[in-house]
Amino acid sequence: MPTRQMLVSLGYSFGLDCPPMLEKAMPEQVTDTPCPYCKSRPLTTVRRVPYYRGYVLVFQHGSKRFAGCVSCVRKQMLLESAKAVGFGWFSPKALVATVFVTPVTFGRAFFVRSDPKRVTALLDEIGVPTNTHEVRLADALYSSAAAIIKSDGEAHPSEVDIAAEYLQVLLPEFERSALNDRVAEWKGGMSVDAHALFLRRFLKPEGQQVILEMFAAVILADGKIEKQERKQWDRVAKVFGLSKTEIQEKWASLVEGESVPV
Ligand SMILES: [Zn+2]
Repeated sequence: MPTRQMLVSLGYSFGLDCPPMLEKAMPEQVTDTPCPYCKSRPLTTVRRVPYYRGYVLVFQHGSKRFAGCVSCVRKQMLLESAKAVGFGWFSPKALVATVFVTPVTFGRAFFVRSDPKRVTALLDEIGVPTNTHEVRLADALYSSAAAIIKSDGEAHPSEVDIAAEYLQVLLPEFERSALNDRVAEWKGGMSVDAHALFLRRFLKPEGQQVILEMFAAVILADGKIEKQERKQWDRVAKVFGLSKTEIQEKWASLVEGESVPV
């Protein structure tokens, strides 16, 4: 369960390790946060891409959001087109989507340009600093919770309840309606580990532990551990710098801990 101590460590973590803004940022560059893929060029663009997968029995679709430098976002879009060609044929709906949507994504990839407006909107949403504001703790936490709750594609009431329990302690100004709205608006897009890539620059290890604990508590909220959710949790722990052994140990301690539903 979250404690006051967590609030102190998390609140303290945010805002302290903020890098100074670049003195002469280029007009199209609104943040000095690097691209999460190459980690070297600046983050300058965001693109949302629909995805379709047709398996023999299941048809999956949704949208993914890629944020990064122009070259990495283009690569991700081309990779997405390739995946659609590989997996998009096995149901009639997916076939139609693959034939009509994939060429559009493929074509759009070549027209990716820097997009300061969309980058600003994304960073506002996830609380990462831009040249107009510092780190926003509330946005970072609401968005982390939304990404975690929606990591399996659906928001179950028990998951929202558990996340609310954490946020209540971590955020003095916590409002349940704000969390509900953020979850409702969170239409897929950024995965929890992509989200963690942004957060890790501003979170101290203690703050990172809180995010991992909240994620584990949400996974355990419905009483069963989905393989996909567990994999995502491992990826987030890896982003936060845990070794393979540490990931195993941390997970075991959380599952054995008090957050396990009886
Ligand atoms: Zn890049």
